[in-house]
Amino acid sequence: MQNIVDELYIAENLSDDELMYLIQTNEYDELLFTKAERRRKEIYGTDVYIRGLIEFTNYCKNDCYYCGIRRSNKNASRYRMSAEEILSTCEDGYRLGFRTFVLQGGEDPYFTDERVCEIVSKIREKFSDCAITLSIGEKSRASYQAFFDAGANRYLLRHETASEAHYKRLHPEEMKLSNRKRCLFDLKEIGYQVGAGFMVGSPFQRPENIVSDLRFLQELKPDMIGIGPFISHSETPFGQGEYENGSLSLTLRLISILRLMFPYALIPATTALATIDSKGRELGIKAGANVVMPNLTPEKDKGKYLLYDNKICLTEESALCREITDSKINSIGYNVVVSVGNPKRKLTTENKE
Ligand code: SAH
Repeated sequence: MQNIVDELYIAENLSDDELMYLIQTNEYDELLFTKAERRRKEIYGTDVYIRGLIEFTNYCKNDCYYCGIRRSNKNASRYRMSAEEILSTCEDGYRLGFRTFVLQGGEDPYFTDERVCEIVSKIREKFSDCAITLSIGEKSRASYQAFFDAGANRYLLRHETASEAHYKRLHPEEMKLSNRKRCLFDLKEIGYQVGAGFMVGSPFQRPENIVSDLRFLQELKPDMIGIGPFISHSETPFGQGEYENGSLSLTLRLISILRLMFPYALIPATTALATIDSKGRELGIKAGANVVMPNLTPEKDKGKYLLYDNKICLTEESALCREITDSKINSIGYNVVVSVGNPKRKLTTENKE
């Protein structure tokens, strides 16, 4: 089996069976973590990139069974930020050293293409040295193109699960895995840096589903890969009883596997990971992650973007959040950098200077 881990390090050519085995055993965790950390340091050193997350609306027309802001949750306290609030949040973030702003939200019909483009172009105008990331769900190719032309350059859209049957158990009939995939390939073709990913331990997930996720990622070749444990939300169909949260150890193991399979990827240590364990973020970095996304959403709305229960950092103001992030990252021998934080790419004959 040691060979399998070695091989991951050299190539990405493990068989499905070998991957399945690796996912299900904790026997090789130490070896995986060590190799992933070494690989990550070869490419990204001890740098950790930060992204300022602005959760600008929790209205959503979708009804994903796992998500706390699904439209059927009548108890969610809904909010949307104005363009001015979003801009001033970016200003605060810039002062705190953020050079990437991630605008994330539910699929809120109020934010028409026109409104999104207007917001994006205002941010672009004011912060020409920053990356603008959108994470607002499934749109038409024309919409993605319009956002790109307005100045957005990254897009996060987790595929959630690459298995048809599993996708159907997590989403209502009107949502289609094929459309989600179509979106990801459109985004790539348009020229965005694209982030995909999935939840670890989502209801009904089997090891073979995770293998499909890894295979899909090999096909898509995204710049960013976000994974985090599923955490149940009490006001969703997966809120009661038998639906367990995803595990810390499997999430960490998968971060290491991802780092070895996709050495150049930007991999965040997610808020969900930090929510299931107070050291989750640091452990994620040590397992091979190289990005953190502190929450910049203004205090008055911060507590309302509740995708799952017990979400952390709901009361801290952004400056404090940033300080805490810095000291936690320093404590494990890594350092937060003020940088737009683009992915490094393998030198090939095509992209050599
Ligand atoms: N509307 C956007 C943003 C969704 S929220 C979109 O569709 O991309 C961002 C991510 O949070 C989701 O893609 C999902 O993977 C994750 N998420 C949602 N509910 C969750 C839960 N209960 N536990 C853990 N992660 C969850």
